[in-house]
Amino acid sequence: MHDGAGERQARRVFSIAALTLALAVFALDVLSPLQGAVAVLYTIVVVMAARSQDRALIIAAGTIGFAMALIAYFATHWGEPLGSPAVRLTVSLIAIGINTLLSVRNHDASEERGRSEKRYRTIFNAAGLPIWEGDWSAAYALLADGALPDAEMVERIAGWVTIRDANDAAARLFGLPGREALIGGSLVRYHTPAAEAALGRILEALLRGDPAIEEETQFLTASGQTIDVVLRVTVPEGSDGWRRVLAMALDVTDRNRAQARLAQSQAELTHVSRVTTLGQLAASIAHEVNQPLSAIITYAKSGKRWLAREAPDAPEVADCLDHIASNGTRAAGVIARIRDLVRKADSQRELVDLPQLIDDTVALLRRDLQANDVVIHTTRADKLPRVSGDRVQLQQVLMNLMLNADQAMAASEHPRELCVDALIDGDGDGVAVEVRDCGNGISGEPESLFAPFFTTKSAGLGMGLSICRSIIEQHGGTLTASNNKGRGATFRFRLPAAEEGAGT
Ligand code: ADP
Repeated sequence: MHDGAGERQARRVFSIAALTLALAVFALDVLSPLQGAVAVLYTIVVVMAARSQDRALIIAAGTIGFAMALIAYFATHWGEPLGSPAVRLTVSLIAIGINTLLSVRNHDASEERGRSEKRYRTIFNAAGLPIWEGDWSAAYALLADGALPDAEMVERIAGWVTIRDANDAAARLFGLPGREALIGGSLVRYHTPAAEAALGRILEALLRGDPAIEEETQFLTASGQTIDVVLRVTVPEGSDGWRRVLAMALDVTDRNRAQARLAQSQAELTHVSRVTTLGQLAASIAHEVNQPLSAIITYAKSGKRWLAREAPDAPEVADCLDHIASNGTRAAGVIARIRDLVRKADSQRELVDLPQLIDDTVALLRRDLQANDVVIHTTRADKLPRVSGDRVQLQQVLMNLMLNADQAMAASEHPRELCVDALIDGDGDGVAVEVRDCGNGISGEPESLFAPFFTTKSAGLGMGLSICRSIIEQHGGTLTASNNKGRGATFRFRLPAAEEGAGT
């Protein structure tokens, strides 16, 4: 309201001044002996009217100037033959006309600019997305020579960046009552170490001339809570020296929390499934432990017999004790392996030799497989690279695939054969493991087997393959299924070869 009244007042002043000037030019034109030469001064009247930013006033000034020049000419030169005053008048009229036209066009263009600025403001303020505009010119001045900022410099720069403008959504993001609380200040008090590191990377990208930079980082809110934010930073065209740097933010705190919860549930499910699978192997495990225990008892008895002789045979007794020790170690090894599988540990990456893991898994399953008359063949390619991964989880995948194969062949009348092959995949940049059975094969679409809760077994849960696939995918690999040309199905997983010497 206040602005409107001010504008009206200014317009009135401009109108009076322009009219006064027009009258003065008219008087000068009629009264002076300059014979129309002053008519060109009406262009000043138009320029003055143009400053009012009022389109009607500009047109009125042009028209009045035009009319007054004509009136003055006819008043002083009526009836005279056309001569140089008429030429001067024509030049003046053209000048007034062109000036008026240009002033109107200029006015229209500046109005359009104003409208587009207003639209931009409206979008900026009404956007639900937090947006702010920062003045990074101090950073630009410091880094103009292209020097990459170190951590200390970034910290200093963070304090120099001031917020020129921000919308209400930005204020809400930082837990502030309104955008005024942000404007004019710096974001440094909301920075976390992650935000500072992101700022360093953003500065480097800006120096490289990247048009838009995206960074996921963390800020603090006014109440000290940590929020996860995806930042998009752009330098709009024409913003020389980083005077206007636009930042848009997306609050991903809830999404990240949900993802973390999902990852945790997945880890728990994977663990439960592993323990359930182990439950199915109780007989095998008991056998694995029982064998060395029986051996220990046998050697202990025979050792005792050697001692009970009239002339105790010390070397034989020592030999028995050696066997007792090695079988004890073997039993302890089995228990340790089982404990690893039951343990609820965070995923750990290490270099894994897949053929060795296949052998360990076959050892664990051998008794179950033998009980079902399954013959196992394992092969391994020469110079097979190792993979980087979680040994326990990869063993879980092997265990699942082999047990599934065992179960797929359980009802088959044909010879039951299970082949587990470790191969080099691609150009040597991957390792593949194929678990091939000669059961009844997959009826229907092989992909459907990987859907959670898909099962054809009365006591099945249908989670095994789904978990196997997510484990393999977490390792950057793929797991697929297909029917064999002859009988049965093949499950194949591929993992990228580890870059040996790169740590893990
Ligand atoms: P579950 O073993 O509890 O059923 P899985 O996810 O391990 O869960 O397997 C899902 C289904 O995939 C099985 O019920 C079975 O129908 C099918 N399947 C798995 N392995 C084989 C295989 N080697 N041959 C044929 N079908 C298989």
